[in-house]
Amino acid sequence: MLKIYNTLSRKKEEFKPLDDKEVRIYTCGPTVYYYAHIGNMRAYLFMDSLRKVLKLNGYTLKHVMNITDVGHMTSDADEGEDKMNKAAREQKLSPWDISKKYTDAFLFDCNKLNIELPEIIAKATEHILEMEDYVKRIEENGYSYETSKGVYFNTERLNSYGELSKANLKDNKAGARIAIDKEKKNPLDFALWIKAPKEHIMKWDSKWGVSYPGWHIECSAMAKKYLGEKFDIHTGGIDHIPIHHENEIAQSKGAYGTNPAKYWMHVEFLQVDGGKMSKSLKNDYRVSDIEERGYSSLALRYMSYTSHYRNKLNFTWDSLDSSQKSLVRLKEAYNEHNNGKESFDANKIEEYRAKFKEALNDDLNFPVALAITWELARTQKKSKQIANLLLEFDKILSLDIDKGTQITEESEFDLSLEIQELLNKRKEARKQKDFVLSDEIRDKLKEKGYIIIDSKEGQQVKKI
Ligand code: AMP
Ligand code: ZN
Repeated sequence: MLKIYNTLSRKKEEFKPLDDKEVRIYTCGPTVYYYAHIGNMRAYLFMDSLRKVLKLNGYTLKHVMNITDVGHMTSDADEGEDKMNKAAREQKLSPWDISKKYTDAFLFDCNKLNIELPEIIAKATEHILEMEDYVKRIEENGYSYETSKGVYFNTERLNSYGELSKANLKDNKAGARIAIDKEKKNPLDFALWIKAPKEHIMKWDSKWGVSYPGWHIECSAMAKKYLGEKFDIHTGGIDHIPIHHENEIAQSKGAYGTNPAKYWMHVEFLQVDGGKMSKSLKNDYRVSDIEERGYSSLALRYMSYTSHYRNKLNFTWDSLDSSQKSLVRLKEAYNEHNNGKESFDANKIEEYRAKFKEALNDDLNFPVALAITWELARTQKKSKQIANLLLEFDKILSLDIDKGTQITEESEFDLSLEIQELLNKRKEARKQKDFVLSDEIRDKLKEKGYIIIDSKEGQQVKKI
């Protein structure tokens, strides 16, 4: 029996899908104004693990993930500027190019981490009409009002507003996080539709003039389009509980009278060196940073299993180092068993298989599943049956345990003259201790599809 923790009830519940055959899931996808960091990737590793555990239980999936390419303001509430607009200005690219660049980078990182993609990936900008219709429905049902800035959801109309986050909302009410907009009836009211100032680049004609959708409405509209009014599971990071997901529930109740998801699942944050990740601290590492330091991206995946998804995970380079070492040891153990000639009790195989599944079915307890994997891998007898079972576990763990222990390879491909020149220049810059120039060249190479790894042997290049 699969049990999952439902944020809505604050309890572990037995998972009972709405439909016997197909489980319908919605995951809040990335806002593609910049590269996803390893914290964001934790959320998608969780999404992937959930998919794999559901499949292990025999379910087929219809899973939607959105790509937010409009409407997410610099604050999760409505203040600030649209992140895409700001990025376009700062990076001197069109918002469409920004969206393409970072969506591609995100999908690339998902692939590096063996994250299986949902069946449907939906871009906000390709669903403007669905969103407009959704807002019209909320309006017709009397749950919204218009101001000079846009169309707002009237949270006073819903007695249940705040059901997901419970206590947290009181803090918001006190105005701690939400600045006062005098036109709003209540500080908690949020924008469904935003009237575009002249300088806003992504905007569309609509019933309310030239404007663009709010961030929350995109998830409601796309979930409704592909999954219907009510679906099984909604996932996201814990930061989404008090604003984004609360607002999605409100919108769905305003339009269709129902909470859209039966189960709400949230993944805790990844921290770096015990604190918050941030650009200013330069610790918002990316998957490519991990590879540049000579580690496999799958070492991060391994590390993600060392903490339950509802607990914080602390990233340090030391802990990544031990995850990488463990991963290599697991690969070695697999190889030894694969070459083993002894036989292993079939009942024991069944026992291990059952224990592994039991751990996963206990609200995705990957730390326990990993411990069981290790117990099996450490068996003294070296047996092919064990290797096969380890491989079966790896369908879920997705650590490529059968793919050799070599983590970084020397380049074996022909480099163009341009790339060789850049590499030489960088080597020289490092010799002169001009690290600013060396970093600049590294970024340039990255844009061209190459990453540099500075190892003891010197500078190595890898095609990405
Ligand atoms: P965003 O691109 O900001 O919309 O975030 C994408 C996903 O990453 C969301 O589900 C966030 O909740 C999640 N997220 C952001 N920061 C972290 C973090 N440090 N650890 C885990 N998940 C995070
Ligand atoms: Zn969302």
